[in-house]
Amino acid sequence: MRPQSREISQLPSLRWRTGSASPGEVERFSRFFAPTLKEGPAEASAASHRLLVRAGFIRQLSAGVYSLLPLAVRTMSRIETIVREEMAHAGAQELRLPSLLPADFWRATGRWELMGAEMFRLTDRRGSEYCLGMTHEEIFCLLARDELRSYRDLPQVWYQIGTKFRDEPRPRFGVLRAREFAMKDAYSFDLDNAGLDRSFEAQRSAYKRIFARCGVPAVDVEAFSGSMGGRESVEFMVRIPAGEDTIALCPRCGYAANLEVARSRLPPIEDSVGGALERFATPGVLTIEALASPPYNVEPWRQLKTLVHVCDSQPVVAVVRGDHPLNEAKLQLATGASELRPAQDEAIFQLMGAHAGSLGAVHFSNRARVLLDEAVVGRTNMVTGANVDGFHLRGVDVDRDITAEIVDLRTVQAGELCPRCDGVLELDRALEVGHIFKLGTRYSVVLGATVLTPNGEQTPLVMGCYGIGLGRIMAAAVELLHDQDGIIWPPSIAPFAATVLTLGPEAELQELAERAVQVLLGAGLDVLYDDRDVRAGVKFKDADLIGIPLRVGVGQRGLNAGGVEVKRRGEREPRLVSVADLGSLAATLREQVA
Ligand code: ATP
Ligand code: MG
Repeated sequence: MRPQSREISQLPSLRWRTGSASPGEVERFSRFFAPTLKEGPAEASAASHRLLVRAGFIRQLSAGVYSLLPLAVRTMSRIETIVREEMAHAGAQELRLPSLLPADFWRATGRWELMGAEMFRLTDRRGSEYCLGMTHEEIFCLLARDELRSYRDLPQVWYQIGTKFRDEPRPRFGVLRAREFAMKDAYSFDLDNAGLDRSFEAQRSAYKRIFARCGVPAVDVEAFSGSMGGRESVEFMVRIPAGEDTIALCPRCGYAANLEVARSRLPPIEDSVGGALERFATPGVLTIEALASPPYNVEPWRQLKTLVHVCDSQPVVAVVRGDHPLNEAKLQLATGASELRPAQDEAIFQLMGAHAGSLGAVHFSNRARVLLDEAVVGRTNMVTGANVDGFHLRGVDVDRDITAEIVDLRTVQAGELCPRCDGVLELDRALEVGHIFKLGTRYSVVLGATVLTPNGEQTPLVMGCYGIGLGRIMAAAVELLHDQDGIIWPPSIAPFAATVLTLGPEAELQELAERAVQVLLGAGLDVLYDDRDVRAGVKFKDADLIGIPLRVGVGQRGLNAGGVEVKRRGEREPRLVSVADLGSLAATLREQVA
């Protein structure tokens, strides 16, 4: 063991606090558990997965199930602190509800079936069924039902920070999409929609501040509500290539929506005057492209594409323009189905009398529900399948020949016009980090959660719910900011704000390093003190890999020049700073940490 200055070595615990108002904490690297690795896991395709493993933050236990090591616990607790502060600011109160949840309540709302294979289910020794909580609308609503009596008790906004369990079909990217993960979920209870709107906006603002403070810029976009139900929802999206969602954005007016609900405007089309319906042979032509090629030469925008889906076990025929992709989320919304899948070949043939490639909805409506995309309304001289294999129909006048419900069914494409202004839409990959919903009375009505109005009547509680993935914020920060050497943490969620490295075994370096540690602690920074008996190069590499914002190297070279070598993570070269000046530098960083 190298000699240590009395100041530090005499302290009884590994961790101590200085005497100042909001002092930082220090950990000695020689005894701190941060197992860094040269290589990330071979299967890691996302930068955050690879780097969080390499830098000693997380370890995988099984598919989508991770242990958080001390560095990750520190970062997660910083994120939690920010979330708690902003929830308190928005008037929300912290609760902690169980994860082991009886099936009955889920059956009551229909979600025991609806959640399908994503729900982890188990049976106790008496044969009672349970699930592990994947979300808590039912459970919070029950608490509200049993405890809230009158409009005087409202509004209430309750939240918890806890573990959620979801048997994801594709757990991947490390903690970005795990099967067991940390979430903050909040639930608001109001007397009416106006109250819900206020609670919703308070949460929206809190979310914006949370993401800004975490150094993870997120855009709020219009979103699809899926299995939650309700009338409106907003997602918070971080624009990164690893994101599994696509969002449409208008750079001119700021319109932003998930592709699942995004809308756009199309330039009007002048069709040539339509004629009579006429069937023609198209042997072997099964695609839009084939019909667009010689000898047929029917441009995709003059074709109708007809697709068959099974929506909650009912067949539904959907028609869009040949060059427009059908949007399954919109189809699901329009049909109100809780489950939707493309129909099998056999079922298509039975319903339509032809196979995929020759389908059409002309004079069809009595055999299944037909939905028609808004963008083809009023079109004439179109071409579509004849519902006879190897034949198409030309001269289709959509309004005359197709009887259908008219809805928005197409997926917006880059370059189309913004629905709100004359801007042009861009598409971008994005990762959902938060999602907030106006649930309304969907849960309170079925669970009987009512309160007394001022007029003495019972009225169902009007609910909102608000989720944010804490592990996802941690991983998103890494996705956003890293380089070939490792992670570059936003100071506010870094596991340590600063690290002090001894760059040699000499006692005077040790002493100076410990002075530097004290200065940083005094300024309120958490410090990883790298006192290990390893080469300087190893210490530099680890500091960069772990991504600590401020690195203070204490070596002979600096000492001779009268200071220490300071480098902000992400900067190339260190600069010489006297220990006296380290205090003001630390104070500046402290402001970014707070
Ligand atoms: P996704 O579309 O990514 O599956 P979701 O719509 O299922 O997300 P919500 O039910 O709204 O997500 O959950 C709220 C938040 O919880 C999400 O915004 C996300 O930050 C986080 N989250 C959801 N699923 C996971 C997961 N498998 N691993 C880590 N975080 C998750
Ligand atoms: Mg999900």
